[in-house]
Amino acid sequence: MIDIHSHILFGVDDGPKELQNTLEMLQKAVDEGITAIIATSHSFHPQYHVPPEAVHKQISIIEQQVSRFNIPLKIYAGQEVRLVGNLFKLIDEKKTLSLANSKYMLIELPSNTIPFYTKEIIIKLKLKGITPIIAHPERNKIVAERPSKLEELVREGAMTQITAGSLAGQFGKKIQKLSLDLVKANLIHTYGSDVHNLTTRPFLFNEGLSFLEKKKQLHAVELFLENNARIIENKDFILYEPEELPLKKSWQIF
Ligand code: FE
Repeated sequence: MIDIHSHILFGVDDGPKELQNTLEMLQKAVDEGITAIIATSHSFHPQYHVPPEAVHKQISIIEQQVSRFNIPLKIYAGQEVRLVGNLFKLIDEKKTLSLANSKYMLIELPSNTIPFYTKEIIIKLKLKGITPIIAHPERNKIVAERPSKLEELVREGAMTQITAGSLAGQFGKKIQKLSLDLVKANLIHTYGSDVHNLTTRPFLFNEGLSFLEKKKQLHAVELFLENNARIIENKDFILYEPEELPLKKSWQIF
């Protein structure tokens, strides 16, 4: 299993503080059955910015320790890139990283809004050959109020990543229900832990998958794990057909 969203680099954002914490997290990842992990520290977030050079530098330090302690885990570089108006300039200047050097880029929306330029940026990214993956849409206030807003972005070609803890109930019943509804509506394509530490923001990787299994979403589990693997291989996703997406009127279930 591959975890495509994690804060495992130390002392750079709101992830672990010390190398030792990172190593404990990586050991826990292995215990959960994770075989590869993409480090996606925040970039261009209002509080945190971890540039590509810092990501690569940290990964090489961590990789040395991982092999020293025989932790059977592969680490890939990435970033959780905040959606900002000048994103294209930053991409052209190579100030952003895609996921594991693939065509997929993990994009973070602000928590309370979907900026007016979001749709335009998605369309332009696709034209540039970059497929945006919207990180944890279930934690966005506008998506929670009007899930059809997410469907609009998916119809433009955005992919999405749901967070394990949201499904596991870590962020409350409301987000757990919304998460399940988004999965059932075929609006989710990938799965990540968004782990920050082992206490308040742990992996919950298997807990999230178990919840989906309990709710009879076995097909979703399979699809998410397959698409996660395809990111590393830089292959196209298994996609839902447009007719499998809900019509906007069906969103009245919310
Ligand atoms: Fe994150």
